[in-house]
Amino acid sequence: MSDILRTVSARDPGEKEFQQAVRDVFAAVKPVLDRHPEYRRNAILERLIEPERTLLFRVPWMDDHGQARVNRGFRVEMSSAIGPYKGGLRFHASVNLSILKFLAFEQVFKNALTTLSLGAAQGGADFDPKGKSDDEVMRFCQSFAAELFRHIGPDTDIPEGDIGVGAREIGYLFGMYKRLRNEFTGVLTGKSLNWGGSLVRREAAGYGLVYFAAEMLAARNQSLAGKVCLVSGSGNVAQHTVEKLIDMGAKVVTLSDSSGCIVDEEGIDRGKLDFVKRLKNIRRARIGEYVDKYSQALFVEKDATADHNPIWKVKAECAFPCATENEINRRDAENLVASGVSLVAEGATMPATSEAVEVFQGAGILFAPGKAASAGGVAVSGLEMAQNSMRLAWSREEVDSRLKMIMKSIHRTCLEAAEEYGQPGSYLVGANIAGFLKVVNAMQDQGLV
Ligand code: NDP
Repeated sequence: MSDILRTVSARDPGEKEFQQAVRDVFAAVKPVLDRHPEYRRNAILERLIEPERTLLFRVPWMDDHGQARVNRGFRVEMSSAIGPYKGGLRFHASVNLSILKFLAFEQVFKNALTTLSLGAAQGGADFDPKGKSDDEVMRFCQSFAAELFRHIGPDTDIPEGDIGVGAREIGYLFGMYKRLRNEFTGVLTGKSLNWGGSLVRREAAGYGLVYFAAEMLAARNQSLAGKVCLVSGSGNVAQHTVEKLIDMGAKVVTLSDSSGCIVDEEGIDRGKLDFVKRLKNIRRARIGEYVDKYSQALFVEKDATADHNPIWKVKAECAFPCATENEINRRDAENLVASGVSLVAEGATMPATSEAVEVFQGAGILFAPGKAASAGGVAVSGLEMAQNSMRLAWSREEVDSRLKMIMKSIHRTCLEAAEEYGQPGSYLVGANIAGFLKVVNAMQDQGLV
């Protein structure tokens, strides 16, 4: 295995996020590899880390001042072992091949855990919708879709949202796809409700995360009621995590964005959450404005030179990182432990560094990796695909109860796999092993492809 890790580093030396994700998964599945020497003969690991296809394309568009601009578009189609490629599109200035390969790699195992037939992909562009007008975002999306459309389709590759890609962007991408293909199919998920979207898709990642955390606590005869919780981010996943935590009687005291974090010791209630939704989804403003409205709260501006993030020093019992990768480093993890946190469930993809995860494990923190805990988003995307195929729309209750069932099933699957491989109670080991086995067994069945 170490020879494969060396190959990854040597072949793609700049891809540090991808190397991190591969290293973490391989460490967790080592007991499986020891039991199955046949995987080596079939080069299972070597195939898992090589995308089936990587697309890289130019995205030219015109800004509001008549200036032509060019961004770089990507789609990494990682694995179709158990279904058509499925995964997000991210529009953010930091997007590069390493980030998209790591996201696509994580998606392989996450999608396998959902119990649905979903392969894995991830794509996006180094385009930041922040500060752009609606017209600029539309022109960019149309240009992006004008290339992507030839590679995707309802049975081939079905993109969805991720950072910087919400309902607005999905709408523009879908419109262009439909025009070019002359067909109305469920090629993207996260669509608006009145033209093929699913109820609860928008809420699914956040709600699913909280359902998963509730299961973790229920297995220990505890509940979220009354627990003080930290949530980072203030986008789609964060907002719906807060919403469901409020439903379950928890008290959320933080939120953040790339400019800093707010701390509201009185708790973020429904009214305050509605304000945040308007602030972030409609006005697309900065989280600091929260304290202009709620003056008892505190805004701490982001300090890029600091070695820790102040959000993780706030006293609490549970933490839900929902912003971005590597937002919790070793020092942050130590701060979380010191401030009394006993449960960390990842809403974002790989928000904790490998060193931070070691700290959690060493301190006996209940830790749920994103590939299990935040699988609710892609799971309901799978349900949106099912509804599109049948030309039917399920009720909110139906989708929500399926989401709950899926999160319960992922929780059970993680615990069973961890138990079977001698690490009882480890969601980290269980999630990686269960996802890995499902994909690898399909690869074995399908021969060397
Ligand atoms: P959004 O774009 O809706 O929100 C992202 C949030 O994270 C924003 O508050 C953003 O701040 C903040 N953020 C982004 N980059 C940084 C950064 N470098 N430093 C600090 N804050 C940052 O995205 P989502 O909520 O959809 O996604 C968040 C995470 O959840 C990602 O890791 C994604 O992969 C994961 N995820 C998403 C799912 C989905 O269905 N959407 C499903 C499962 C996981 P700002 O507004 O300043 O940019």
